[in-house]
Amino acid sequence: MGNIETFTSFTTSNCYVVTPDNNSDICYIIDLPPDVEPALEYVKNNNLSIGGCLLTHGHFDHSLGMEKVDGKIYINLDDEFLARNPQEQLSAFTNSELEVQEYTGELNDIFTYKNKNISIYSNPGHTKGSVSYEFKNLGVVFTGDFVFAEGIGRTDLYSGSTSEMKESINNIFLTFNKDLEVFPGHGNTDTVKNILNYNSYLKEFING
Ligand SMILES: [Zn+2]
Repeated sequence: MGNIETFTSFTTSNCYVVTPDNNSDICYIIDLPPDVEPALEYVKNNNLSIGGCLLTHGHFDHSLGMEKVDGKIYINLDDEFLARNPQEQLSAFTNSELEVQEYTGELNDIFTYKNKNISIYSNPGHTKGSVSYEFKNLGVVFTGDFVFAEGIGRTDLYSGSTSEMKESINNIFLTFNKDLEVFPGHGNTDTVKNILNYNSYLKEFING
């Protein structure tokens, strides 16, 4: 039942190509890192068609590949500014004068996206527009830089908020089914249950 291919970028972010149903050629791409080519090659080589590119948030290591895809791109528009304007984030990351253009292509509001198999959660904290995607028939959730197997996303960047992160952990992450497998924006996967048990960064934010 279904398949998830992981492509880890040179920036360390994960891009996932999700094929929820082996009997269908529809796939979904979770995040578009600058070096998205291997993921696109996989799509092409397997004759898949892209049902949607679903961004977890607007940071460049998850979105700079936007120029390179044909599929429709969805994002929480609270992160539209970030996704369209990578220059500042990039210079902080690479310390270089690398020039990147503002993205002027189409960005669609993720909350207009309807797919009965995919639940979309708003979990601000790392950025204002951070979201998670649960694929219900696969028992997996893609959390971006909200929650990692062994940590949580930093909250000190533009539009980040520690208090919103706390609320998102308590009101969103704690409501996830304990058996869900978490596929984060960086690093390895693990179950919600294990993360709740062993992730000390996350535990610090849990009320009471
Ligand atoms: Zn990020």
